[in-house]
Amino acid sequence: MIEAEGLTKFYGPRGAIKDVSFQVEKGEVVGFLGPNGAGKSTTIRILTCYIPPSSGTATVEGLDILEDSLRIRQTIGYLPESVPLYNELTVDRFLRFAAGAKGVGAKRIGAEISRVVSTCGLEKVSNRIIGNLSKGFKQRVGLAQALLNNPSVLILDEPTIGLDPTQIIEIRRIIEELREDRTILLSSHILPEVAQICKRVVIINKGQIVATDSPANLTSQLQKTSTIVLELSGPHEEFTRAVENLPGVQKVLRTSNGTSKFQIETDPTVDMRPDIAALAVRKGCGLLELRTLQLSLEEIFMQLVTEESTQEGAES
Ligand code: ADP
Repeated sequence: MIEAEGLTKFYGPRGAIKDVSFQVEKGEVVGFLGPNGAGKSTTIRILTCYIPPSSGTATVEGLDILEDSLRIRQTIGYLPESVPLYNELTVDRFLRFAAGAKGVGAKRIGAEISRVVSTCGLEKVSNRIIGNLSKGFKQRVGLAQALLNNPSVLILDEPTIGLDPTQIIEIRRIIEELREDRTILLSSHILPEVAQICKRVVIINKGQIVATDSPANLTSQLQKTSTIVLELSGPHEEFTRAVENLPGVQKVLRTSNGTSKFQIETDPTVDMRPDIAALAVRKGCGLLELRTLQLSLEEIFMQLVTEESTQEGAES
């Protein structure tokens, strides 16, 4: 389990994160999401004991980041944003070195390396020099290093950054396989990626947490209006006038030149589709399509992040 409570960090006079609090329960995979510069790496570096917070506290598996930093570093698997690989070593030599540093006993090193090499699909490259590998394979080596000693907590900072789509799918597959029984915090600035893997997301913007919820709840809570897409056949002037006056309808937009397609913005707390369908039938219009338009998570993310800036603008 990971618990962060009121984490604040200043780099000199400059504040990077402010009062960051969240939890990742045992066995949970949580996405830590925010635009570049939001404070993800800073938070992660504090949780992995690479830098201390200016104030606030955090524990990882019950260990305190200030008092038990060495044990935390041996307990967790950490994939930093830029993986510190030794480019002149072979994959196998590097993993042996990393296993030693993580306190894996000499007798277990061989078995432990075979395990992580197999999990990350590195069998074919284990004798290759790291510097000559593709970015995707380098990332897998970084992940293999994080998995040494079979950590119960994994902290992955932008694990798919700079990878091509095939490599991203591969890394995602490996993370999916690892989720069993593990607590995973995974940072990203790409929303769909996090939404695919994580049941819960923590969104950070300008150093502060702006939302914590499941992707589905975020979608429904943040939708200020619900949009219904409608397509009719036949004459619909009467329908158009009537639908604008239906209680719960906020705005009616025609979206095509043929004027047979509509986007109807409605109160998100009521499903207006039955009323709209009934009205279309009453007015003698053929109903070709009627569905709710879902806001994408990307749109919600933008909404959250821009709302913050607008509020700030209003305050200053
Ligand atoms: P993210 O990982 O979300 O991109 P970071 O945690 O790297 O965000 O950065 C948060 C803020 O702190 C940014 O404004 C960044 O410029 C600043 N920052 C990060 N690291 C340092 C550092 N070592 N010294 C000074 N400022 C830093």
